[in-house]
Amino acid sequence: MNYIEQIQCLEKADKDFIWHPFTQMRDWLDERPLIITEGKDCFIKDSDGKWYLDGVSSLWVNIHGHRRESIDNAVRAQLDKIAHSTLLGLCNEPSILLAEKLIGLTDSRFSGLVPRLSKVFYSDNGSTAVEVALKMAFQFWIHKSRPRKQKFIAIKNGYHGDTVGAMSVGSVDIFHATFGPLFFDTIKAPSPYCYRCEFGQNFPDCGLACLGAMERLLERHAKESAAVILEPLVQAAGGMIVWPEGYLRGVRELCTKYDVLLIADEVATGFGRTGRMFACEHEQITPDIMCLSKGITNGYMPLAVTLTTEQVYSAFLGEFSELKTFFHGHSYTGNPLACAAAVASLDIFESDATLQNMPRKNGIMQNALADIAQLPRVGNVRCKGMMAGVELVKDTVTRTAYDWKERIGWQVAFDMRKRGVIIRPLGHILVVMPPLAISDNNLAYFMRALKQSVIEVTGKY
Ligand SMILES: *Cc1c(COP(=O)(O)O)cnc(C)c1O
Repeated sequence: MNYIEQIQCLEKADKDFIWHPFTQMRDWLDERPLIITEGKDCFIKDSDGKWYLDGVSSLWVNIHGHRRESIDNAVRAQLDKIAHSTLLGLCNEPSILLAEKLIGLTDSRFSGLVPRLSKVFYSDNGSTAVEVALKMAFQFWIHKSRPRKQKFIAIKNGYHGDTVGAMSVGSVDIFHATFGPLFFDTIKAPSPYCYRCEFGQNFPDCGLACLGAMERLLERHAKESAAVILEPLVQAAGGMIVWPEGYLRGVRELCTKYDVLLIADEVATGFGRTGRMFACEHEQITPDIMCLSKGITNGYMPLAVTLTTEQVYSAFLGEFSELKTFFHGHSYTGNPLACAAAVASLDIFESDATLQNMPRKNGIMQNALADIAQLPRVGNVRCKGMMAGVELVKDTVTRTAYDWKERIGWQVAFDMRKRGVIIRPLGHILVVMPPLAISDNNLAYFMRALKQSVIEVTGKY
């Protein structure tokens, strides 16, 4: 078989055997799929040998680019020792080193209202990190003899993953509505989505009406609520919604005032994505529980952590017979290969000066976005660090959204492929999510391609 025949076999086998996530498979079967065969720096190569800029960071996980030598080497070195052993009743070296490093990172950066994060609970992906956080908060109040505190308060447009618990606290209707009958009861607070403000107001004249609404919910429901869960500063999958200044800090203060835990889901925002190591740092707050995943291994291996404070952890300590144990764990919890990759990835933040370069790169993005914002079908642009959203609208005056059935975002994404850039939109919102390591020139190219594709596609409407 020659190379072309081999690739044709792979394409056929993909269609024969794989059910792709978040994909209408009938459409998929009609198209020729891109098979990614290789990656280097911020680029990925398909089976035709064409290189693309990885503008989606391989689904938001790649921070430092592909094929980083130090991470490759760390995984290889660990392979020479052991690929997997369990944290249920045993420990392993990489998970210990990583936990120590993570706590060190949060410790030196946060100046918070509550005691600092001091414990790491491992799992495998963002959704499980959230499930762990929810169960931890729920059981915490039982141990505190407040068993009525069972509910969660979440924020509209939030996304916390696709497992049933994570969906219960999420509210991206197009993903979640079908499964509504399965969900536990969650209280939903208004989203601080300034472009489509529920209160019809403008920041800062509004005085954060959305925060006032959160306070009224807490007044009414704190006695029956275990925690508020939120994506700090940027609601990512819900539309790259960047929050107005002060909202996050305000919610932290309200949680303290009303004695409700705060869960910060930093799965998308963590590891430098917003310009700081963690988004919570922008408003100088510490959550009681923090979920991390996507960027943690630089996309090498599935891994997640749920961090918490001494206060939460110590509530679970007791006599064996008291059954205060946290009954949760997964087969691959604390996988040594993944943890070794994560340790090496964290070191690159120092060697690449990743965070120090962010203001300059953010400047390139902001300038380009200000230009894109002038286009006739662009309603709103929002950017924090190296994550941005461009909201396309039919009419900028009435802010009328495109019908999701028009798949306007995908039309732009497919046009960008012709220009050598891969992006993945969220409906009518275009997502700019390159690896943080992208060079200034490549970033500028990305932004030019985005502008050209928006003009090309929306010109037709
Ligand atoms: C992606 C994401 C998740 C879910 O992570 P998975 O690894 O896909 O399960 C949870 N929370 C946020 C904020 C995310 O962006």
